[in-house]
Amino acid sequence: LSSKLPRVGTTIFTVMSKLAADVGALNLSQGFPSFPADPALLDLVTKALRANHNQYAPMAGVPVLREAIAQKTADVYGINYNPDTEITITSGATEALYAAITAVVQPGDEVIVFEPAYDSYVPAIELAGGIPVYITLTPPDYAIDWTQVAEQMTERTRLILVNTPHNPTGRVWTRDDLDQLADLIGDRDIFVIADEVYEHITFDRRPHVSLMQHPVLQERTFVVGSFGKTFHVTGWKIGYCLAPADLTVEFRKIHQFLTFSVSTPMQYALAEYLQQPERYLELPAFYQQKRDLFLQAIAGSRFRYVPTEGTFFQNVSYEAITDEPDYDLAIRLTKEIGVASIPVSVFYDQKNDYKILRFCFAKDDDTLLRAGERLVKWT
Ligand code: PMP
Ligand code: GLN
Repeated sequence: LSSKLPRVGTTIFTVMSKLAADVGALNLSQGFPSFPADPALLDLVTKALRANHNQYAPMAGVPVLREAIAQKTADVYGINYNPDTEITITSGATEALYAAITAVVQPGDEVIVFEPAYDSYVPAIELAGGIPVYITLTPPDYAIDWTQVAEQMTERTRLILVNTPHNPTGRVWTRDDLDQLADLIGDRDIFVIADEVYEHITFDRRPHVSLMQHPVLQERTFVVGSFGKTFHVTGWKIGYCLAPADLTVEFRKIHQFLTFSVSTPMQYALAEYLQQPERYLELPAFYQQKRDLFLQAIAGSRFRYVPTEGTFFQNVSYEAITDEPDYDLAIRLTKEIGVASIPVSVFYDQKNDYKILRFCFAKDDDTLLRAGERLVKWT
């Protein structure tokens, strides 16, 4: 069979989590919580199952969940989306990203991708016949050179992919970033996908500014969210896409034949759980404590780092410690000291040698402390 994705191998998340399991390492690689979800949320699933919400959900998602998302979005961002025509429930953010990319990209279209980039974007672009155009951001600050972005835009630019708070760097976009992006797009026929799955995880009182809050961007943006990150249930794979009605029409044409609809009882449970805003409003403090605990735990090491601004990932530089490529080091640390991480070079198109590892701190405190202890001992 001739491969449609010849350059794609097995995703790094699968590689590292499998290795961590095989050797019994503390797994700070793939981004998922090691602690349990709220029992109250689990009870709501049982309630939905017993209420016999066990058949196909409507294609766009169960109405109560779409209404709850509309309400939450209005409360948090002050923006109204119509639950009937502008909100679609998907199988995780991954499906929403795929459907939005497929809806927009025609063969030969150029798509601006800021790298390091989450690993599902580029394969989806390429399967749609699009051409990724990379804007390379470099450590330690990963600053965006907007002049460079302007230079990379052509009449074939069709889509720009934005991820804030950003995986893997933890960078959070500001209002100024949004203004810069909007100025560049102007009135050109360019769409935006905003991957905002970490919308509720920002630190040091830094706000998450959603692309929907910029009126020029809102009109042309698919905003993608996921309950996996927000409610500690990555295995449920329930996400959503908010987009103006004309964009949602095209989005749903793809979604209906990709998955049609997603797990009904989970949607009912989430709809009810969303009625408690404190469940997402408590996340910044909750994760900031974990970030700081992890940073404290590695404070005696020779790793260099800037505290992450958002997401549940902390990047560290090991430049002062060894010359090894990050992929090799991530494998070696998993096997030798029992701490798994993600090498950040894999999120770039071209081979590079930045010497950065990404650690996920969505773990119970004991795991973070034990990992920190092993890392300090190693350095
Ligand atoms: N986008 C980003 C930036 C992510 O980090 C992730 C997963 N952690 C996803 C999308 C996929 O989310 P989901 O698990 O809801 O498909
Ligand atoms: N988004 C998660 C991470 O960055 C992984 C999700 C996945 O394994 N597909 O670690």
